[in-house]
Parts: sequence; structure tokens; C-alpha cells
Amino acid sequence: MNKKEKIEHFKTVLFEMFPDAETELNYDNEFQLLIAILMSAQTTDKQVNKVNRNFFMHLKEPQDWIDMWEEEIRDFIDSISFYNNKAANIYKTCILLKDNYNNKIPHDLKELQTLPWVWVKTAKVFLSVIDNAPFLWVDTHVHRVLNRVWFVNTKNPLQTDKVSEKVFDPQDMAMIHNTLIFFGRYQCIARKPKCESCRLQNICKYYKWQTLA
Ligand code: SF4
Repeated sequence: MNKKEKIEHFKTVLFEMFPDAETELNYDNEFQLLIAILMSAQTTDKQVNKVNRNFFMHLKEPQDWIDMWEEEIRDFIDSISFYNNKAANIYKTCILLKDNYNNKIPHDLKELQTLPWVWVKTAKVFLSVIDNAPFLWVDTHVHRVLNRVWFVNTKNPLQTDKVSEKVFDPQDMAMIHNTLIFFGRYQCIARKPKCESCRLQNICKYYKWQTLA
């Protein structure tokens, strides 16, 4: 197979395996999604959902956060990492959303990044979930899978992020983003990839090396 054929095969397998792939963060509106993404830094989606099961009943709009006592917020989110920083920065984000954006989340990549603690990763994840925007954010799962299959040969997610946009077509990015995360979480697992049942064996360099070893 040439590279183009490998990419087609890769997409076909991923899209067939996870046809309904979407974020695993729970949310009821755009504001809650942004907050959930901010909370998920260095924390699993599962833990964020657990916290937000009760928290989001009280937090539906920026004003709800502004109205809460700081201690109350900390009590809700103190089981996630960096909860002090996260609470303070999300508070600032809520103020800005209220004062400058009439409580609406901007849908522009650059504008989103003017909000406190909204880095390019947060903005890309938000826009790819809400608008199917053509962004592939490279987290550790995406970085690992793309290197194992050998579509890229990079040392860290940042490097992978820079080159991955040359690998895939823009119109496929949102779907690839979601399916790759699932594939990394449930098939190409970091410590023990499930190679024996993997439909990408025929294009995977890691698998080839393992079988030759
Ligand atoms: S064959 Fe193994 S290493 Fe390669 S993509 Fe599949 S699970 Fe990952």
C-alpha cells in the first residue's frame, strides 16, 4: 500500500470501529462544555463527569459561577487536579464572557484564546466538538497511535501536532480527532496495545517490529 492507501485504510477502520465517536465529557450547553474542557486538563473525563454530575445542576450560565461562593466551588471540584487554579481561572473566564460576550462563547479560534486559561488546545477541542471544525488536537493517545502506525515520527505531542495537519485532509479532521482518541483509549492502549485483534496490523510499523523481534 502507498501512503494515500494506508491513510484511507486507517480512516475506514477507525470510522467503522467508532462511528459515533464524540467527546466523553458530559454537558448540556456550550458554556458547560467549555468549563468541562477547562476542568479536564491533567484529569480524566470520567473524573470531570463525576464532579459535574452535581456541579452542573447549579452551573448553567457564567452568572451562576459568579454568584457562587469560592468555598462552595472548591468543595464541588476539589477532587480534580489544580482545582484552586482552575476555579480561579474559570471564574475570570465567566466574568469576561458576561462583560464582553453577552454570556455567549465566541466561535473563533483566536478570539476564544483571549479567555483566561483557554489555550489553543482548549479552543480546538471546543470548536471541533461544537462546530465540527477541522482541528486535530494531538493528546497523548493521538501522538502514540500516529507514531506507532508510523504516519509521523515525532518525540512529543507538540511536534506531532505540527506535522499531523499535513497527513490528513481538513474535512476529515474532526472525525479523525474523535475516533483516534477512542482508538488510543480502547485499542492501541499505551502499556498493552491489543495488537492481536487490531485491524491496522497490516499498516502498523509497531506491530511489524514486534512480530519481527
Ligand atoms: S497493531 Fe497494535 S500498535 Fe498497531 S495500531 Fe493496532 S493496537 Fe496499535
